[in-house]
Amino acid sequence: MAYDVLVIGYGPAGMVLSALLGQRGRRVAVIERYAGLYNLPRAATFDDDAMRLLQKLGIAESVAAGTRVQRTYDWCNADGEVLIDNEFSDFGASGWPEFNMMFQPVLESELDALCRRTPGVEIIRGYVATEFRQTGDGVEVVAQPADELGRVAGTPHGKARTFAGRFAVGCDGGNSKVRSGLDIKMDDYGFEEPWLVCDFRLKRDVDLPMALQYGDPDQPTSIISLGPHHHRFSFMLDQVVSSAEAVDPDEVWRRVSRWITRDDAELIRAAPYTFRSTVAQEWKQGRILLAGDAAHQMPPFLGQGMCSGFRDAHNLAWKLDLVLQGATEDLLETYAAERSPHVRAITEKAVELGRVQTVRDKQAARLRDEELLRRKRSGRRPEGFRFPGYSEGFLAQASPDDSARGQLFPQAWVGHGSGRAQRFAEVSGAGWVLVVRDPSALAGRDDDLVAWRAAGGTMVMLGAPAEERAEAWATVDDVDGAYQRWFDGHGCASVIVRPDWYVYGSAASPDSLRNLLRSCLSDLRPVVPEAKPRTASRRLAPADRRPVQGDVHPAAEVMSGPASWSTHPPHNERNETCGSQTSPDVPLWRTARSPSTSSRRAAAGSAPAHRRSSTGGRSSGPGQTSSTGRFRSCATRLGSPTRISARRARIRGRCSPSG
Ligand SMILES: Cc1cc2nc3c(=O)[nH]c(=O)nc-3n(C[C@H](O)[C@H](O)[C@H](O)COP(=O)(O)OP(=O)(O)OC[C@H]3O[C@@H](n4cnc5c(N)ncnc54)[C@H](O)[C@@H]3O)c2cc1C
Repeated sequence: MAYDVLVIGYGPAGMVLSALLGQRGRRVAVIERYAGLYNLPRAATFDDDAMRLLQKLGIAESVAAGTRVQRTYDWCNADGEVLIDNEFSDFGASGWPEFNMMFQPVLESELDALCRRTPGVEIIRGYVATEFRQTGDGVEVVAQPADELGRVAGTPHGKARTFAGRFAVGCDGGNSKVRSGLDIKMDDYGFEEPWLVCDFRLKRDVDLPMALQYGDPDQPTSIISLGPHHHRFSFMLDQVVSSAEAVDPDEVWRRVSRWITRDDAELIRAAPYTFRSTVAQEWKQGRILLAGDAAHQMPPFLGQGMCSGFRDAHNLAWKLDLVLQGATEDLLETYAAERSPHVRAITEKAVELGRVQTVRDKQAARLRDEELLRRKRSGRRPEGFRFPGYSEGFLAQASPDDSARGQLFPQAWVGHGSGRAQRFAEVSGAGWVLVVRDPSALAGRDDDLVAWRAAGGTMVMLGAPAEERAEAWATVDDVDGAYQRWFDGHGCASVIVRPDWYVYGSAASPDSLRNLLRSCLSDLRPVVPEAKPRTASRRLAPADRRPVQGDVHPAAEVMSGPASWSTHPPHNERNETCGSQTSPDVPLWRTARSPSTSSRRAAAGSAPAHRRSSTGGRSSGPGQTSSTGRFRSCATRLGSPTRISARRARIRGRCSPSG
């Protein structure tokens, strides 16, 4: 078999999956219909989990250099009154800024460069995958030469090629040929709305909202930064229009005239998009799987489409790797069992938010605005939305004592050795990790620990006193107390973390730790029969020291509207059931409010640079209801609240009809 895995489609999901597999030493062929990179943005922002994954891939710093941290996200009404003012942290639960604004081609060229330099990854461009065959022990994919528009070009352009691999993964986007070839149906969440997305390259500094949802029922509009040099304006359309109709530059300039002029920026594209909400009913047939938009499409109101594709790739990569090492293929059944409910929950929330954000009926919009302003004045915050963990899948046996099972393990700052504070993954490595905060739980556990290490697991001890420090453990100082809070919140003393940062299971007592370890080893044993013993994480080979990452997000908070909003009158002939759709790109959730601005500032002022926050962000468990740390760090970098309100006042002036 020439390849371990055939990846169809070299968008963000295909790139991340290929790189992860390549870094695990797998032979990957990734087939892409276009000869070059797409070079235009779709996604505008990505979250801290996505950045944690880029950290694992070794490109977080270089990607971060081309992004802009998203610190605010406001909703305002047609008069420019701010209805909701979200502020985000520079240090979310996954150890990176909660939102990162980017120009997608910058991210894709970093991922492309990574794939190109990763041994084992072969990129086959200019070929359209057209046929997919399951064979006795693998998959064959037939690909035809493509023309410059990515269509099958016909024989003058060359011959069809056939690729053979043990597995194939369709990362071929929303119109997935792999999915339709397998006759996989989609569940439709009923959201389908046309928007016009207009992207600009800035010629000079312009005072624009970083992320604003302008809830004018006459023209719902989204404005968002695409990193340091680009900005996006998106307009909800009343009906589907062709590209030719939508792309009249004069019309686009008229739409944006109150914000920017031709002296400020260059229009680089205007494209109509229809936002949909669908999830595949099956994510795997035989040895062919789906990931990214091929498996799900969601409206971009939570900024989670690409991020979800990253999570798919991350979840799948370590499982495919284990199966290729000899694990039973049943392991791959846990892929959809984990990812599908996660994506469905986010899709439902994105749809709900979209409908609230883009009310077209004036009376309903007025009710929405009044309610939001009333809540704002009374200091009531929007109710929380908690990203789900996993409840089914490759996890320890469910137990009432194990509240951390299936949750995202956070990444916070840790001290290690005498060096600077580091992100947790820089110490723990990229594989299975046993994290313990009570050394006494390990008494008499030597055999289990030897077996754990032999299975490839690493071990991290939190804040152990010097005399307890064992050679086999990486002992770290819980710099901000973030892990203490997390463990307290979950009522546990030790935890086993999977390679994708989800918790396999946790234990509160020495006995339950013994059971947990044995259960995990037993689950892994048939999976990694030939795994070579490794030493503690501090001694891992360079490839294993790639930073880790995780997936679950709790505790984002979002607006949930009063009953009157959910019965939107028709806004046009096409859509008779809901009068709204919101802007693309903009994550709608908000974080919990910290007690007061002054206390945030005080906390920020007292925190050393490497301690800007705790795990903050989307809280990673009970007891971390979101984010003192998040707001503390936010205040650190945001600058003075006066500056923010001055900026908001300027924006308001431009939103309001008289402005
Ligand atoms: C306006 C807009 C705003 C968005 N904002 C956000 C955001 O802020 N945050 C976020 O996380 N997400 C956002 N999204 C969603 C995000 O852009 C997508 O989820 C993401 O790009 C999907 O990545 P993918 O790799 O799964 O698919 P794609 O990016 O569609 O890549 C699929 C690749 O497969 C190739 N291909 C297709 N068929 C074949 C074939 N038969 N053979 C070979 N190659 C093939 C295609 O050429 C393409 O390169 C937004 C989307 C839109 C449209």
